[in-house]
Amino acid sequence: MPAFTIISCSQAITNANAIPVVVDCNRKTWNVDVADIEAAITAKTKAIMAVHIYGLAVNMRDLVDLANKYGLIVIEDAAEAIGMTICGKPAGSWGHVSTMSFYPNKLITTGEGGMVLTNCEQIRDRALSLRNLCFQPERRFVHDEIGWNYRLTNLQAAVGCAQLENIDRHLVKKQEIGQYYQDKLSDIKNISLPKEKLAITKNCYWVFGVVLDASSKHDANFYMSKLSKLGIGTRPFFWPIHLQPVYKNAGMFQNVRCPNSEYIASNGFYIPSGLGLTNTDLERVVTSLHEVFS
Ligand SMILES: *Cc1c(COP(=O)(O)O)cnc(C)c1O
Repeated sequence: MPAFTIISCSQAITNANAIPVVVDCNRKTWNVDVADIEAAITAKTKAIMAVHIYGLAVNMRDLVDLANKYGLIVIEDAAEAIGMTICGKPAGSWGHVSTMSFYPNKLITTGEGGMVLTNCEQIRDRALSLRNLCFQPERRFVHDEIGWNYRLTNLQAAVGCAQLENIDRHLVKKQEIGQYYQDKLSDIKNISLPKEKLAITKNCYWVFGVVLDASSKHDANFYMSKLSKLGIGTRPFFWPIHLQPVYKNAGMFQNVRCPNSEYIASNGFYIPSGLGLTNTDLERVVTSLHEVFS
């Protein structure tokens, strides 16, 4: 799994009594490179968890080839790349299991909730059982296994269906915001902007991150508080999994270093990209960024 992601990913692994092994990200894409995953595979490896970070997808074609070479399961977290394609095939269609989140800040939302996607009937049936307290179909209230209550309500599902009708419009707006920032911020020295595209995929700019170059005198916190004083909201980047206090305190990841993830975690932040932003709002964000970096 990537070192640079949200803790939900490693929690899913530890909840299954498995051991997460992290792979560093690429400094430019903020995603893992497939070659670095291969270097981390051992005889104990069971699965590869791919996570598309901030709207730019991982090269799933090469990743699936790698998984097949070693006979590994692929889990694809497509929460941040919903609506995008990789080699013309949708994000969320590459894993043995792929996942979506419908948390409020996602491209489409049901308030809370998510979705598991699979082509495997066995996995489907098991997921349906686990989310519903493992009620057995033959005899209700008799349980062979422990599950959870992870049911999505019909109300939320109805909201999700309505949201789905707007997904193309939401994607267009996100990409317009992303392109606007690319055009207007490229002249700022000492910062790097997200990759616009790779040969196999485009960025949907779920969020628009900026990363300070090594030549920058200050870290992300410094600029975030300057922007805050100008009324511009920002958010910090993910904090790497191997540096999470909860895992350190449990004795995990003791000698793990992931320099790229550590660098972007301290030197990256994202700027406003909500669907409700007006052109005037966007101009203000751009002007404020020029001001704090001048
Ligand atoms: C938002 C997000 C999650 C968590 O989703 P929940 O709906 O909060 O469980 C997991 N992975 C990624 C990549 C996310 O962006």
